[in-house]
Amino acid sequence: SFFEELGLAEPILRALNTKGYSEPTPIQRESIPALLDGRDLLGVAQTGTGKTAAFSLPSLHRLASDPTGRYPAACRMLILSPTRELAAQIADNMRDYARFLDLSVQCVFGGLPVRQQARKLVPGCDVLVATPGRLIDLVEQRALTLNRVEIFVLDEADQMMDLGFIKPLTRIANMLPKKRQSLFFSATMPKSIVELGKRFIDNPVRVEV
Ligand code: AMP
Repeated sequence: SFFEELGLAEPILRALNTKGYSEPTPIQRESIPALLDGRDLLGVAQTGTGKTAAFSLPSLHRLASDPTGRYPAACRMLILSPTRELAAQIADNMRDYARFLDLSVQCVFGGLPVRQQARKLVPGCDVLVATPGRLIDLVEQRALTLNRVEIFVLDEADQMMDLGFIKPLTRIANMLPKKRQSLFFSATMPKSIVELGKRFIDNPVRVEV
């Protein structure tokens, strides 16, 4: 398939087959090769463009090809999302794409008891999808450490700013390991978002759809 030409591993191709995806969307075609190479990415893209698979598929490929194992109360990939609905949707998609891989996906957000969510993090996971405020709570309670994050995704950056998440985002950025891959997505790219992006991404590939 066209996805095969992009270099994705067989279990991921099988999952895409199950989903009924026959060919990549433009953002997937443009981002996947660069992300497989470990590059940082600045994506100007709306929901509905296939953005979630664009960042999920190459990340799952990279995590699966380097099975370093899970560490308690840690994650290897962190995805920040502005709302619980979006976070849950991303986690559902990730689980679908990872169904033939031995990778675990967890999701945490505000509105549910912190202790219940802290319990899910005890064994550690490969992929964690979170809203910023709840993530900070969990780190403060020592239910989670961010020092093993290999891939960081900031989704819907403009909405994050509108919702007043600049402070938690800055704190989270300061806790992440320096050596990591970072992906930064926003539907719009005003100057304030470009400036925010500079704190997270390094010499990124730019993709616009
Ligand atoms: P997103 O922009 O990531 O929210 O994706 C929008 C919708 O498109 C979701 O329902 C995906 O399941 C679907 N989708 C993503 N990539 C593809 C593809 N390559 N072929 C068909 N559907 C897709």
